[in-house]
Amino acid sequence: MRQRILKEIPAQKFDEQFKTLRSEILGRVEQVFSRGQFILGQEVKIFENDFARWLGVAQAVGCASGSDALLLSLMALGVKSGDEVITTPLTFFATGSAIVRQGAKPVFVDIDPLSYNMNVAQIEGKITSKTRGILPVHLYGQSCRMDRIMDIAAKRKLWMVEDCAQAHGTKYKGRTVGTFGEFGCFSFYPTKNLGAYGDAGMIVTSEDSLAQEIRILRSYGTSRRDYHDKLGVNSRLDEVQAAILNVKLKYLDTWITARREKAYRYNELFKESGLTEVRLPFEETDGYHTYHLYVIRVSDRDSLLEHLTQSGIQVRVYYPVPLHLEKAFDFLGYQSGAYPEAEKAASETLALPLYPELSDEEQVCVVEKVKEFYRS
Ligand SMILES: *Cc1c(COP(=O)(O)O)cnc(C)c1O
Repeated sequence: MRQRILKEIPAQKFDEQFKTLRSEILGRVEQVFSRGQFILGQEVKIFENDFARWLGVAQAVGCASGSDALLLSLMALGVKSGDEVITTPLTFFATGSAIVRQGAKPVFVDIDPLSYNMNVAQIEGKITSKTRGILPVHLYGQSCRMDRIMDIAAKRKLWMVEDCAQAHGTKYKGRTVGTFGEFGCFSFYPTKNLGAYGDAGMIVTSEDSLAQEIRILRSYGTSRRDYHDKLGVNSRLDEVQAAILNVKLKYLDTWITARREKAYRYNELFKESGLTEVRLPFEETDGYHTYHLYVIRVSDRDSLLEHLTQSGIQVRVYYPVPLHLEKAFDFLGYQSGAYPEAEKAASETLALPLYPELSDEEQVCVVEKVKEFYRS
């Protein structure tokens, strides 16, 4: 059999990106070390201001991670034991654990099988007297159908917190996600579209009083030194990470454009390949997809995953276990089979390598390897 010789195609190329940013980043980090202000200094202020402006929202408050952004938001909204929050079962664990850590219960709606985002038609049927809010997740970089969710939230007097960990700069009908609800929660985990060199997160809001509440909660619950009026936590955006993010934010628009172009290039290559076995990502017509992930769908996912991994292509599954089947949530009594579309997606989807540093040759190679799996 003819074998193409190829290098590994990694899931990320952090080293390559660092080469192009090296002097800028090291210079900026050195200034932080020289100043000696390591917690909530000027880099954090600059990043909060610039990120808020970039999104088009009034306030941004840095914190330690995307998980903490969700948790702090729910703390600020007073989510407590006995409350219910409506969300999606197809998301990262942290979306659900933030709700559960507050003592509340995630109530799931199934997903839309095309976009993989929450099926908005099922939300109203899940509202009870205990429902306090809706927590939509803009999965893979694509917005949920926000007009419907906003309508329901307004009509039923529910708050809304958006999980934007995969959706920096994603838009719905021209409006940036994270600006629709009480809070928008962002992660700068290294693999995200804007990634730090460690953990980092951000909460955005258009209401000054809510921003102030988050500022107090992220810093032990104190608003003046030595006095603690609230039961807060220690979850701040690190000054060194903020310095790195300040450098990287300038490139974010360019990187998003590159991701979109490469996603469309995959689409084109798959269409040329004539492979009918592979379902390509679905794009809503009224959004701006930022392609955090390029997720294909196939019926024999596990064997294809095995074949691509053997060929040196690093592919990943987001997510193999829907939240209602996670062991940590056993005590909440969810049933297997309760959200069939989410369960099917969890067993049929696969994310191919996608990042600004991915070359055309590598994309051709990925699609060839998929074709090899089906045609040899
Ligand atoms: C990454 C991610 C998070 C958590 O962010 P961390 O910074 O890793 O804590 C939450 N929700 C979703 C959808 C994510 O992808």
